[in-house]
Amino acid sequence: MKPKQFLYLFLPFLLLGACAVTSKRSTPITQGNPTEFETLDLSEKGPIRFQKILAADWVAERNGLIHLKDPKAVAANLEPGKEPIQIYFYVIDHPKFGRYIIDTGMSSGFRKPQEEWPVPGFISSRMNGDKLKTKITIQEWLAKDPKKVEGAFLTHMHMDHIFGSLDLPAGTPLITGPGESADSRFIHLFVQSATDRILGENISLSELKFDTKDGKTTRILDYFGDKSFYVIYVPGHTAGSLAFLIKSTNGSQLVLGDTCHTKWGWENQVPPGEYTKDREANIESLNYLKQISLKFPKIQVHPGHQSIGDK
Ligand SMILES: [Zn+2]
Repeated sequence: MKPKQFLYLFLPFLLLGACAVTSKRSTPITQGNPTEFETLDLSEKGPIRFQKILAADWVAERNGLIHLKDPKAVAANLEPGKEPIQIYFYVIDHPKFGRYIIDTGMSSGFRKPQEEWPVPGFISSRMNGDKLKTKITIQEWLAKDPKKVEGAFLTHMHMDHIFGSLDLPAGTPLITGPGESADSRFIHLFVQSATDRILGENISLSELKFDTKDGKTTRILDYFGDKSFYVIYVPGHTAGSLAFLIKSTNGSQLVLGDTCHTKWGWENQVPPGEYTKDREANIESLNYLKQISLKFPKIQVHPGHQSIGDK
């Protein structure tokens, strides 16, 4: 491509200084009952069979995962470097509403040699691709435990949370938080086409609505309306980040997404570092999730990329 053509092609993005995470557009959906924090009741076990699946082992930069300038990180002498992390997806089997997953793990494409992965080479080398070790793909997992996936909730649309999308049957709804697919950041100029490719041709993107009433935005939706599965709006890491509170047969589970990537970040209440878009909003959302865990101390917490205990 000639430099002039290149300039014309990218001029709109250069002017805006950013572009959306994906060029695919989502349909707003209204689902679930708005719920107040004060009315949450987790005293009884719920009907959902909850499974956390380790999809891949990986490493990432500590200064992306944890805000190293936070006084608590400074006091703990945390230094920049590589941090071992994992990629997970979660399976929600509801006796009445069927199977949903949260995030999409890995797709079969990642079983191929790295040069054939469904991400461009310059991205896989930048993201420590040589350290990304797939444990199980969505296709392999569904072959072992077959059941229709009614939909996949995305904690957010960063690539490591949608890597498995191509393994889902065509048309499986992907459900995001408000403004997530249009979330703009300069970096997206480089990753938009990769994100589109990972999502595949046949996706259906839905965006959950969280209404604002009297200047107050709903934070929690009782998704099925039976108080078993709550979707929590936690903007900050990305515009439409979501967390999930699940009343399972094994007790209550809190899936944080990348509002907090690491065990250390959760235990010390320190937000992510450079991987987060809006740190102030991320801190507010992290504090909100912490409040839930303090109200229900028995809750099992699942940070975005590490585990607490052996759960
Ligand atoms: Zn992530």
